Parts: sequence; structure tokens; C-alpha cells
Amino acid sequence: MFELHYKAIKFDELDTEEREFIMDYFDETAEILKIDSLNEKLNFWAHRTEIYNHEEAERKASEKVLAEEKKRHEILSIECQKCKTQLETFILERDNEIPSFEFDIIKCVKCSELTILDKGCGIKRYRFLNYELIEELSKEEYDLSKALLRLEELKNA
Ligand SMILES: [Zn+2]
Repeated sequence: MFELHYKAIKFDELDTEEREFIMDYFDETAEILKIDSLNEKLNFWAHRTEIYNHEEAERKASEKVLAEEKKRHEILSIECQKCKTQLETFILERDNEIPSFEFDIIKCVKCSELTILDKGCGIKRYRFLNYELIEELSKEEYDLSKALLRLEELKNA
């Protein structure tokens, strides 16, 4: 039974570090829960393995959806200056009548670094990935230098 469930994780597809991580993770969690009997341990591991496989399948499915979305839409991408993550804006619909009316202050979801995004004009509908929108600065009120000052203010807050 033990071996069977371990095979279910498909260890062949994992690299050594991932393998060690999972082993450690199972051991540590079992430790924390003070699981003593071998039977309980086996049940626990089997359960964890199922959850792991489920999460893995979900992750793969969402990666696939994301890859397809990326092919379908124009993407504005800027790089987080701190952690190099791509901060992406998916353009779902354009309308050339729409002017560029704001600067966005956005936050990288990976490292929390703040930065300024100017999406430019003509964007009617969009969605974004890997960042959070913190503040929208109207261009009637803010030019780039004022927006940069506001950015510094927020960074130092
Ligand atoms: Zn970052």
C-alpha cells in the first residue's frame, strides 16, 4: 500500500529537489500532527498524495487555460524591477476613441514591489496577471513626474 501511493505521485516526473521537498513535507506534517501509528501514517500519506495529485492536475489545467488566453489576446508586459516577474495586462477589447487617462500604481504579487504602469490609449476592457492595482492616478491631475513622486510616497509609507 505504501509503495502504491508513492508511485501515484509519479516520482519519475519530479526532480530530486521536488522529491525531497515532498518527503520532508509529509514527514514534517505527520510530525506536527503527532501521528504515531504506522497505519495512521499510511492513511495520512495516502490522503496527502491524493490532495497533491489533485492540486497538480488543477495547476496544469489552469496553466493550459492561461497559455490559450495568452495566444488569443494582446499582452502588455512589464518586468518587475525587483524580482523580474512579468507583470502582464491582457487587452480584451480595444476602442481607439478611448484616450490614455491614467497612470496605475501596481504591486507585484510575488515580491510586493510597487511600480508605475501606463497602459496607453485605446483600451476598453482588460485583465491583469501577477500584479494588484493599488492606485489609479488621473492624467488630468498627474503628469509622469507627479506620478513618480506619488509612487515614492507609497513606497516609503
Ligand atoms: Zn516582483
